[in-house]
Amino acid sequence: MSPIFIENSRVPVLLSKVSPIEIYAISLVFFVFCRGELSETTRRHETIHFRQWLELLIVGFACLYVGTWLWFRLVKRYSGELAYRSIPFEQEAYDNQGDPDYLNSRSCYAWMKYLRPSRDPSDEARRT
Ligand SMILES: [Zn+2]
Repeated sequence: MSPIFIENSRVPVLLSKVSPIEIYAISLVFFVFCRGELSETTRRHETIHFRQWLELLIVGFACLYVGTWLWFRLVKRYSGELAYRSIPFEQEAYDNQGDPDYLNSRSCYAWMKYLRPSRDPSDEARRT
């Protein structure tokens, strides 16, 4: 099962005006909107998000996505970009977007392994 991909869309352009990051492509439940044409890597990244949306019955994904971003931004005081990259859903997508076989081998709720504190990107930043 895959989302419906919509290329050359203005949706990412409009959402970038209220987002802490510049959005090239975005998964919104059953649709993926992209400013231009989707590469296989971006298509895979957004399809991982599509699976996450379904696993959490849409509302759960939206609440956890926004809630974890707010946690990292407001409580841990990360920058908007670092808070975004710290979201477990994004960590799973970025870690696996380059693996052509990932969507076939991915287990349900695979994003949960990114809840571990050792996956916190600020920890990596502190070590460098
Ligand atoms: Zn993403």
